Amino acid sequence: MDRLHKIFYGAGREAAYKLPVWEAKGISPTCFTDADQSKHYTKFMDIYGDYTPYNILPLQEAINKYPDYLLYISLTKSSWRDITDYLIGAGIPQDKIRYTEPVEWRKGCAHLGTFMNNDANLRICLSPLLLEGLHCGISDNIEDNFTNYFDNVTKRINELKSEQLTSCEGCIHLKYDFWNTQTPKINTLFFGSVHDDFCNFKCLYCGKHLKNNHEALRQRAKKIIETIKHYCKTTINGTVMFANGEPLLSFTNGEFDEIINLIKSNGLRMHIATNASIYSEAMAGSLKEGFGSIVVSIDAGTQKTFAKVKGNDCFEKVVDNIAQYAGIAPGAVFIKYILVEGENDNEYDIDNFILIHDKLNLSTPAALSFAMDFENCTAPLPLPEHSLTIATYFIRLCKEKQKTYSIVYDYLHLKDVAYLQQACETEYDE
Ligand code: SF4
Repeated sequence: MDRLHKIFYGAGREAAYKLPVWEAKGISPTCFTDADQSKHYTKFMDIYGDYTPYNILPLQEAINKYPDYLLYISLTKSSWRDITDYLIGAGIPQDKIRYTEPVEWRKGCAHLGTFMNNDANLRICLSPLLLEGLHCGISDNIEDNFTNYFDNVTKRINELKSEQLTSCEGCIHLKYDFWNTQTPKINTLFFGSVHDDFCNFKCLYCGKHLKNNHEALRQRAKKIIETIKHYCKTTINGTVMFANGEPLLSFTNGEFDEIINLIKSNGLRMHIATNASIYSEAMAGSLKEGFGSIVVSIDAGTQKTFAKVKGNDCFEKVVDNIAQYAGIAPGAVFIKYILVEGENDNEYDIDNFILIHDKLNLSTPAALSFAMDFENCTAPLPLPEHSLTIATYFIRLCKEKQKTYSIVYDYLHLKDVAYLQQACETEYDE
């Protein structure tokens, strides 16, 4: 434990809320300092507005009084970089500056090591691309998978720490920030599609040609259940996500019940990418109880386009089923439009998709995503100009209707990300 005096920089709301947590971790202030002169020579107030024993002094006076000091930044994390630069500029040696969490400044990514992606490969982040160092073969031995996962995570973090150029370059999620020094914990356990999963749709962008091989499906389900059981040993509040074909058809009712029980009894959440062609009482129950959520890629606003893009002519049934789920939990049902070049990239379908979102009374954003080569997981190419025009139309329409929306950038070329982010920031006059 440090015996040096701890001067806390920032006597505001963040400190008022977090002080008890920091003190419990052994980080207790000797005094505070703050840029706001009106606080100087007063006592720090806690969350309830009561005075604490801690004086708030001007920075230099605090340092003069406690020359054997460490300066802890007690402001929100988003300000740490700017405040650090300011303090160094004000003559505070960098080795005197501390943070209220164990962090290091480096390149990193919030999804690295927090998203365990299990499909035909084992991936250590949410990128669907087969990037060097970020994926490996998946084993039948569940423990080996977790070991390999964390080995690869540690390796990539060390590469980023030492400023090596890695396959993360060019990813929108890579950025300099304060990253925790501890190994990340998995917060999302994801099961994507493999060839043995089953689906009753044939979406144009999927290309997995999923078959109904009963024996292979049961083996796959068994492995998924074992993986969840292993995950439950190490987490208390994560999410299990399913996009394994049509999950409600890839599991038997008994398997799905077992999965739901595991998730519920371990306090986890469940998120399912379903095509909503069948209504599941078990799924509805998870929505009602508050631990489940679903996303449905409708990819159309009309029956004709739906049948063409999804390979199954059941548009009305799907919308009816979503409406039933939405009636139970409007904040846990998401709908998405995956734009496919030359198939559904027209204003009429987008208009109708947004009307469906209106009618469903969802409190979740309408999402726009883009088809990628999910079969080969190759790096994204720039979008055709017409796709960008339609995506901009979607953004503009949502803004005009004051509807919350989201754009899924993960499968896009950086050039298109910049273009669409700009469109999101643009004010459209109507
Ligand atoms: S590829 Fe992107 S999402 Fe994956 S670890 Fe690298 S920066 Fe993060």
